Amino acid sequence: MSDFVLGVDLDGVCGDYTAAFKAVVSADRGIDPATLTDDVSWDFAEWGLDREGFLAMHRSGVEHHHMFRHMPPMPGVADALWRLSDAGVWIRIITHRLVTNWGHALIVSDTVEWLDTNRIPYRDLCFLGRKPEVQATAYIEDAPHNVEALRAGGNDVVVFDQPYNRHLDGLRAANWEQAESVISDLVAEAVGSYDAQMPGMDAGADRLDRRIVHGD
Ligand SMILES: [Mg+2]
Repeated sequence: MSDFVLGVDLDGVCGDYTAAFKAVVSADRGIDPATLTDDVSWDFAEWGLDREGFLAMHRSGVEHHHMFRHMPPMPGVADALWRLSDAGVWIRIITHRLVTNWGHALIVSDTVEWLDTNRIPYRDLCFLGRKPEVQATAYIEDAPHNVEALRAGGNDVVVFDQPYNRHLDGLRAANWEQAESVISDLVAEAVGSYDAQMPGMDAGADRLDRRIVHGD
């Protein structure tokens, strides 16, 4: 059952971009990260950044702080994606990280390294420009403009909850536990059934480590 392709965004969905970017901004300014609010808009204006300031800080974060290699993963993301993958969902990672005209080699290598380090399962990895759509059955996404464009194209989109997307209605997940549940419902609707993992099977993102330890 690989008829169901799930398009999975990275920043703000699999990885905590706000936390990673907060570390960069607070290091640059020599301030306590706790003084920067988590209740941010899409453009981080609450942190005193205009568009130009954001782009400069983002570039510094990517090139000097290796933000895409060290970004904290969202809690439970790897286990949830492994279970969905085991149930037959085709995981297609989608990212817009190459929208900049610099640092492509570094961005791609840090991204792939991060996916491996954090045990994120995937069958395709798509670096996209503006067009948000990659022929998936459903998507999970945080960026308001991408959610709106995908939905305008008739796609099912689960909004991964962030302070900057709360004006959007429709399917929403506050965390990966909820996301897994919403997505398994979409799978059941689309293909008629959802074969959750059998109890006692070797589940979870740490399976590779356990296999190595046990030698099987
Ligand atoms: Mg995103």
